[in-house]
Amino acid sequence: MELVNKSLRELHTLIKRKELKPSELVEAVLKRIEETESKLNAYITVTDEKARRKAKIADEELTKLSEDEIPELFGIPLSIKDNINVENVRMTCASKILENFVSPYDATVIKRLREKGAIFVGKNNLDEFAMGSSTETSYFGPTKNPWDLERVPGGSSGGSAAAVSARSALASLGSDTGGSIRQPAAFCGVVGLKPTYGRVSRYGLTAFASSLDQIGPITKTVEDAAYLLNVISGQDSKDATSAKIPVPNFLEALNGEVKGLKAGLPKEYFVEGVDPEVKENVLKVAELLEKNGVSVEEVSLPNTKYAVETYYIIAPAEASSNLGRYDGVRYTYRAENYRDLIDMYCKTRAEGFGDEVKRRIMIGTYTLSAGYYDAYYLKAQKVRTLIYQGFQNAFEKVDFLITPVTPETAFKIGEKTDDPIKMYLSDIFTIAVNLAGLPGISVPCGFDSKGLPVGVQFIGRAFDEETILKVADFVEKELKLNTVPEL
Ligand code: GLN
Repeated sequence: MELVNKSLRELHTLIKRKELKPSELVEAVLKRIEETESKLNAYITVTDEKARRKAKIADEELTKLSEDEIPELFGIPLSIKDNINVENVRMTCASKILENFVSPYDATVIKRLREKGAIFVGKNNLDEFAMGSSTETSYFGPTKNPWDLERVPGGSSGGSAAAVSARSALASLGSDTGGSIRQPAAFCGVVGLKPTYGRVSRYGLTAFASSLDQIGPITKTVEDAAYLLNVISGQDSKDATSAKIPVPNFLEALNGEVKGLKAGLPKEYFVEGVDPEVKENVLKVAELLEKNGVSVEEVSLPNTKYAVETYYIIAPAEASSNLGRYDGVRYTYRAENYRDLIDMYCKTRAEGFGDEVKRRIMIGTYTLSAGYYDAYYLKAQKVRTLIYQGFQNAFEKVDFLITPVTPETAFKIGEKTDDPIKMYLSDIFTIAVNLAGLPGISVPCGFDSKGLPVGVQFIGRAFDEETILKVADFVEKELKLNTVPEL
């Protein structure tokens, strides 16, 4: 356990000094996966053989390199959400339709991690095509929350968050369309960062809702999140929406200098329906910051109440278009018996997609269809602009916002599966951030009386990940929570 508890920076130092071999580290992570997987189901694919082979090569290379030639992720094993392409590794998106699909290429984030020497140990479980908030819509079965195996780890990046929490991954990459990095991070007591839209290339991330999707780190600490963000950020010619904006060294932002910052508490995020214990823990963070020289004032984001509805028009609309490509001709799954081409399309999709994905495709097709487009999709886009403007107004007064990540802590497996609306509401505090394209980070800030982790969310201005990382790191170091579950 000792090795897997260390930070990426510490591991890098040990490897650099040649006090630790990549193969030892890979073995430590694989051992942990072996110990925990039967309980958690956090991985869909474990690439143990590949990882061992790469580690051996890295061991040899290490003997030939001098300290300053060793890149920051050299020999460090990572896990990846199974909707991000890793060359020659199966990528299922937790679906039946892609059950046997093998990625022909690396996503840009993977290429960047590889260039810095990272090794990949496996692909993490998720909700099918990242649609969900509990990892229960996975074709490969639900992931369990390491804090309570009867509860969900959140979703859709539930496998990544559970693995990092249980230390069966040193760190992972997830994707966040409406909360899928931050919400599972909060449920599992780990750190989850959704970068600004455009900060990280989406090339090689399986598209769910292209105007909302963003890849980001799920890690044990804020420092680890900054460490990975440094590597994966930056413009990419393969993603036209990736921004041509300089990438700072995010680690330098973690200097504890929070004094003088201005924080906003959006009153719409502390309304009835939020678990009092969640509220209490989050407000304690605001107090802590205030004691340390941060000014805290109430702000208003009046259109927050429309965020979930707006999202559930825009995201399914984009999904219905993006998922049109799974037609039985391209990719892998095809129905066995069919009369003609149309019948083949229909049967393949009927058999290959799960209920939640079908629900989204149907809603999206409906809201985009002639006669309904103006009433739903166009209207939703207008409300989206209003939500964005609400944040802009708030950021004229304050530097960042403090909110809960979720209205409640991890819920029981099966508790919301029969009621999609209930499930959708668990993202009520994360979704607006995606609609506005802003950065948001989820950091553990306490436990409720059931012993389940509570997360606090910091939301920043576009391309100002530095402020929220700085604040998150400060809070993490002040609170000194023991966030390792006993499994
Ligand atoms: N839970 C939300 C949904 O079901 C968000 C998912 C995500 O961020 N990928 O769409």
